[in-house]
Amino acid sequence: MRTCRLPDRAEPVDLAIAGGRIREVGAASGPARETIDVAGRLVTPGLVDSHMHLDKALLTERVAGSAETAAEAIRLTGAAKRAFTAADIAGRARRVLDLAVAAGTTAMRAHVEVDPIVGLMGMGAMLALKREYAPAVDLQLCAFAQEGILQAPPTETLLRRALEMGADLIGGCPYNDTDARRHIEVVFALAAEFGVDADFHVDFSDEPEHLHVREIVRQTIRAGWQGRVAAGHLTELAALPGPEQAALVAELAAARIGVISLPLTDLYLMGRRDELNVRRGLTPIRRLLEAGVPVALASNNVRNPFTPIGTADPAHLTFVAAVAAHMGTRDLMRDLVATVTTHPARILNLRDYGCGAGCRADLVVWECERLDEIVMALPPRRLVVKGGRVSVEHERRIVERWRSDDASRAPSG
Ligand SMILES: [Zn+2]
Repeated sequence: MRTCRLPDRAEPVDLAIAGGRIREVGAASGPARETIDVAGRLVTPGLVDSHMHLDKALLTERVAGSAETAAEAIRLTGAAKRAFTAADIAGRARRVLDLAVAAGTTAMRAHVEVDPIVGLMGMGAMLALKREYAPAVDLQLCAFAQEGILQAPPTETLLRRALEMGADLIGGCPYNDTDARRHIEVVFALAAEFGVDADFHVDFSDEPEHLHVREIVRQTIRAGWQGRVAAGHLTELAALPGPEQAALVAELAAARIGVISLPLTDLYLMGRRDELNVRRGLTPIRRLLEAGVPVALASNNVRNPFTPIGTADPAHLTFVAAVAAHMGTRDLMRDLVATVTTHPARILNLRDYGCGAGCRADLVVWECERLDEIVMALPPRRLVVKGGRVSVEHERRIVERWRSDDASRAPSG
């Protein structure tokens, strides 16, 4: 691939790609089977959406009313879930995956609900989709206890079955259970039993009324699971006073826990009891980044009671976060691009991720030259490359008919 403008280089370079990997970065060496000249466009590693619910996406047409709180969203979605079928889950998930792949997402972690309502139906459907979409996106499937574990038997047994079926990791939701500490213990026990990573939906309130993340830190260290645990939402962290917040952020950094901010959901569902100066309800992204915590922005939900909007394009999340999290300088915008590329790659423990020699050739070619333009202008994608092959090619055609002399004389339907 010729004349690629890489994020960390001043001048465009050529990338030699073979066997699904970047072999060389620099001047082109020798003849290639296929040569693509990207004409100095920005090339980044593939986008990584680290937290997505494909199984409950695209429900707006069948759910009456919108949720005002997370509890209400869980209730409305739980009711809709009773009518799910495997074909229905796969159909909606495919529509979202197609959007994500076209946007340049080459890796995604999907939370798949495993509970007494859907049983293992979602996991079965998603395992088939993981194989179907393997040429375009690496899907990590997280067996997720949205309805709780202790309050929803036999969820623990179902989670174990899901891991036996091939789930890649285990996910908990301690705020939606009767005993949060015990819930976290069950998740860590399953993570240890199957040797998999753990990912929690945690501390999803305006006030610091749960702070279950403290227990997650303790159990991460006790299990020796540093670098293998993620915490999603974590909005309560933003409500802690300065010194207390700084101490907890330092604990997260020491335990190498990744934080996944879900800005579209959090901005939508937090701050609902505020009548004046409504809070934004985002985890403190900048402070976490400054402390060296890997922070990802992720889609979470696409058009359901938790989040009425969504495009499955991670770039859109950076656009929102630039204003919602006050990250508007060029350097901070570059940091925001890292929250949908290198940081989530680290949280998902993706191997050989990046634009260097030896990395997997999962790449996005953008219609722009600089990283900060991704955030400020949402440029179209030109090409998406997965495992060294072009997976998506975008064509754009804009005809500015108003500019032509005869525009007014020759209107057309
Ligand atoms: Zn979620």
